[in-house]
Amino acid sequence: MESAWEAVKALASGFAVTFVHLFRKPITEEYPEYKRPLPARSRARIILTRDPDGGERCVACFLCSAVCPVSCISMEAAEREDGRRYAPWFRINFARCIYCGLCEEACPTSAIQLTPDYEFCKQDILTFVYEKEDLLVDHQGKDKEYNFYKYAGIVTEVGDKGEHMREEKPVDVRSNLP
Ligand code: SF4
Ligand code: SF4
Repeated sequence: MESAWEAVKALASGFAVTFVHLFRKPITEEYPEYKRPLPARSRARIILTRDPDGGERCVACFLCSAVCPVSCISMEAAEREDGRRYAPWFRINFARCIYCGLCEEACPTSAIQLTPDYEFCKQDILTFVYEKEDLLVDHQGKDKEYNFYKYAGIVTEVGDKGEHMREEKPVDVRSNLP
């Protein structure tokens, strides 16, 4: 008898919730006329960003490519005369990408970033292969301040070893010997 009473109470509370919703105003979002703003950290279309001084952030270190679980990133590495590395070509196959964000996590320079732009569906699967010119943007994306070459300790036009931000002067290892 007690379990029957419990079942009736559960049913009544369920119907009560339904009954309350009968008098609520419906919330219908008319997509695509209304597009719900997504958080900045949403994971959709990928971009390659630039440093605050306009230089390409990607140093062609292959970390994003190595960590990608579906192997959809490929590139070539090259080096300028001043020692700054870059990718002459950089390719992402969005038909394979699962938008996991691991490439962004692995990137030491904040170059590769996922954005909330999810509206790039196409019928022709071959058009999902994006080249560097389709990926590279003229801004810093989510990371407005970071400039890898000002922290990296690499001799470039920014400075010699020991002249970068929060970097100690090089130590003469012989000075540690007895
Ligand atoms: S989001 Fe994931 S699947 Fe897509 S390119 Fe980055 S690591 Fe690869
Ligand atoms: S996007 Fe980032 S992780 Fe990928 S190669 Fe360039 S610097 Fe390295």
